[in-house]
Amino acid sequence: MNILLLGSGGREHALAWKMAASPLVTKLWCAPGNAGIAQEAECVALDITDHAAVIDFCKRNMVELVVVGPETPLAAGIVDDLASAGIKAFGPGKQAAQLEGSKGFTKALCTEFNIPTGAYGRFTNADDALAYVRQQGAPIVVKADGLAAGKGVVVAMTMAEAEAAIAMMFDGAFGAAGAEVVIEEYLAGREISFFALSDGETAIALASAQDHKRVFDDDRGPNTGGMGAYSPTPFVTDEIHDQIMARIILPTVAGMKARGTPFRGVLYAGVMLTGQGPKLFEYNVRFGDPECQVLMLRMMSDIVPAMLASCDGQLRNFDLRWFPDAALTVVMAAKGYPGDYARGTRIEGLDDAARVEGVEIFHAGTVAKDGHILANGGRVLNVCASGKTITEAQRRAYEAVDRIQWPEGFCRRDIGWQAVERERG
Ligand code: AMP
Repeated sequence: MNILLLGSGGREHALAWKMAASPLVTKLWCAPGNAGIAQEAECVALDITDHAAVIDFCKRNMVELVVVGPETPLAAGIVDDLASAGIKAFGPGKQAAQLEGSKGFTKALCTEFNIPTGAYGRFTNADDALAYVRQQGAPIVVKADGLAAGKGVVVAMTMAEAEAAIAMMFDGAFGAAGAEVVIEEYLAGREISFFALSDGETAIALASAQDHKRVFDDDRGPNTGGMGAYSPTPFVTDEIHDQIMARIILPTVAGMKARGTPFRGVLYAGVMLTGQGPKLFEYNVRFGDPECQVLMLRMMSDIVPAMLASCDGQLRNFDLRWFPDAALTVVMAAKGYPGDYARGTRIEGLDDAARVEGVEIFHAGTVAKDGHILANGGRVLNVCASGKTITEAQRRAYEAVDRIQWPEGFCRRDIGWQAVERERG
């Protein structure tokens, strides 16, 4: 098959690496890609916001499957536009992508189909929102309705913080994404991520994975896109897994189907394990980044038939197999991230680092220039490793990190700590 992958981050490098290993693939392109992806696929300088240009490329190159990595093109309806042109694409259509694109949409779905989530209100003006939080009290969570690059959520521990968040959102801090605000009950408990693959009819769970959102060790500093991840996680027991599938994932798939907007693709649920059982606090409609990287290292099955089964409604009798080994990834970012950072700094030692046993390095934001790899983003590298245990995977990943010479970069030194602590007993 000829396949085109859309995206340019570490998630897409991991997907490209996994797809390139499939015997079903004749030719793999990636638009726009990065210096690491170029080792697995031919990178093409397509503007992926220009759907007509993507369709034109697919027609000229006889592309049979398009795999969409990030959420923005999904929310913009690229899967529908490709389908209208007769091109198969992996991921949800525009209506189903609202599960990520609109927090209010997801809350309303939960109410309609009895999916456990926190109490909430939806608001389009500050006065009503303020009245609601004064009635509910703090702690409380204030969320911009739309896509805000992971920054549209304020967990307000005090009334003053909640009021400031409401003022900021209605003042246009997130543009149109904040024109509606969802105010949600604060859920106390352990936060976990849950991934499932759906074909619009049913869903199968992927392996468990957990990321680390804060920028510094010990979970300090501002939130980021994710500074590392590991799989499996010790916190999703079989019982919790079954509860999440039965009460959250499958009712969501059934609800979306009943509404006439079936969800196909990867459903990534943010779940809080509360005293009253698992509760959904958000959906994403694509693989997590960097969780995808550890899932791809652990996936034994060929991913391409799984993606095709998702597109074609054929998941019912599908089975995905996973390696028993653990996997862990450390994100190396440019100093200053998630704030301002420099681009164009030189990275050395990648080949030496990749020789550590079990290590695979995915590029998240790089360019190749004059025979060198240069940083070209906030999150720049994903140093991944597998091992018999999370502890072994962690040791290997940091051994590789220490072989990389990049003075302008940094990483957390404690990725996987919860699991490592547990393995230590
Ligand atoms: P999100 O952008 O929806 O992933 O939210 C960012 C973070 O806010 C999540 O990772 C959670 O830690 C936290 N969060 C979101 N909703 C809630 C909630 N209802 N209760 C407590 N924490 C929440």
